[in-house]
Amino acid sequence: MIMKSRQSIRVITLGCAKNLVDSEVLMGQLKLNNIKVLRDDDKGHADTVVINTCGFINDAKEESIDMILSYIDQKRKGRIRDVYVMGCLSERFREPLMKEIPEVDEFFGVNDLANVVKRMGLEFRQNLLGERYLTTPSHYAYLKIAEGCNRSCSFCAIPGIRGKHISRTPEDLISEARNLSGQGVKELLLISQDLTFYGMDRLKKQALPELVEQLSDLDLFKWIRLHYLYPSTFPERLLAVINERKDVCNYIDIPLQHINDRILSSMRRGVSSKETRDLIAKFRNSLPGAAIRTAFIVGYPGETEQEFRELEDFIRESRFDRAGVFTYSHEENTAAFGLEDNIPEEVKQERASRLMEIQMDISLDLNLEKVGKTYAVLLDRKEGEYFVGRTEYDSPEIDNEVLIKSASNLKIGEFYNVKINEADAFDLYGSLTE
Ligand code: SF4
Repeated sequence: MIMKSRQSIRVITLGCAKNLVDSEVLMGQLKLNNIKVLRDDDKGHADTVVINTCGFINDAKEESIDMILSYIDQKRKGRIRDVYVMGCLSERFREPLMKEIPEVDEFFGVNDLANVVKRMGLEFRQNLLGERYLTTPSHYAYLKIAEGCNRSCSFCAIPGIRGKHISRTPEDLISEARNLSGQGVKELLLISQDLTFYGMDRLKKQALPELVEQLSDLDLFKWIRLHYLYPSTFPERLLAVINERKDVCNYIDIPLQHINDRILSSMRRGVSSKETRDLIAKFRNSLPGAAIRTAFIVGYPGETEQEFRELEDFIRESRFDRAGVFTYSHEENTAAFGLEDNIPEEVKQERASRLMEIQMDISLDLNLEKVGKTYAVLLDRKEGEYFVGRTEYDSPEIDNEVLIKSASNLKIGEFYNVKINEADAFDLYGSLTE
C-alpha cells in the first residue's frame, strides 16, 4: 500500500453527539500527526475526506449515502483523491456498500479509529485518546461515558451496530473532563446510549450518581447536563444528586417512546405505563422546576387509533418541556422487523404532526410562564442583532434559545443574568439585568 502524503483531511460528521465525539477523537489524532483538519463544510481544500456516518433509521441512512455519493462525485471529477467512510452505516452495511460504491477507498466500523488513522499512514496515539479536537463552541463539550447498549428495544438497531455496553473508567472520564475544562469548557454534557446503565458492566452496579458527584467535586464546570437516561431501573439516588449539586442542571432527558402497555411491552422497553407515570411524578416531586425532555415513536406496528390517543392524552397531562417525535422506521436485524410495518406512512406522518401540535401549545404555555423571570444564560453565539444563549433548562441544538438584544459587547461563552420579556413556542426573548 503506497502511503500518500497528506497535509489536510476533511472530517464530515453525521448523526448524534456520540458520533461527534468519535470524530473529535479522530481529529485529535490527526492534529497530533500535524495534519490540518477541516470539519464538515469548513472553507479550504483537503485531498482526503473521511465521512463519519449515521445508520440507525431510514432518514439517517439516506442522508449518509447521499453524502458519500456527493464526495464520490468530487473524486470522479478529480477534485479530491481519497474518500473513507466510517461510523454506524459503514459498520452495519459494509459488504453491500463495498459492492454498491466501490469508489470508496475503504469502509471502517464504529470502534475502528486506530485503523482509520493507520490507513492514512499516520501514527495512532492510544495514550492521547483524551486529546479531542473540539468541534462544539469551546465553552461546552460532550463527554461520552460509555459505548454500546445492553438493552433490547425491539425497534432499535443500535445494539447491533455499537455492540454491548462498555463503561469507561471513572479515572479516564475525570482526566478527560479536566482536559476539557483546560480547553475552556464550562458546560459538560454526559452522553452514551443509556446513561443509567453506567457501571453495570465494570462495577456491577449503577454508578452514574457517583460519577456525577465525582465530576461535580472537580468544581470545574458551571453546568453538568445529563442526556439519554432510561426509564426502567432508574437510579433514584441520581435525583438527590441533581437536587443537591447546583452545578448539575435541573434537566432530565429521558426518551419514553410510548405509554400504551401493549406497545411498551412489544417495544421491549421493560417498563409499564404505570411505572412510567410514577417515574415522571417522582421527577416532579423531587425536582420541582426541572425541565423534562423526552421522545416518542408513532406508527409502531399495529398501533391503533385508540393506542395513539392514549399517547396524545399522556402528553397533554404530562406537559413535558420538550418532546421529540419520530415515525417508526422498519429496521433490519431488529426484533420489530418480524412484525408487519402496517401503519401507512401518511398515517405515521399525521400522528407525528398531531403530537407535535399538542407539544407546541404546551411549550408555548411553559415558555410564557418564564416571562418576567430572570435566568443565568450561557451565550453560544451572536446572530444578526441578537446574542443567542441558553438557560440550564436548554441543551445545545435541540432545545429553546434565549435571544438578547444588547449594545454592549457581550462575550460568547460567558454567563449573563437575563430577564425574559417575551416568549414563543421555541425561543425566549430577554434583556440583561444590571
Ligand atoms: S436504550 Fe433502547 S433505544 Fe436506546 S440505544 Fe439502547 S436499544 Fe436503542
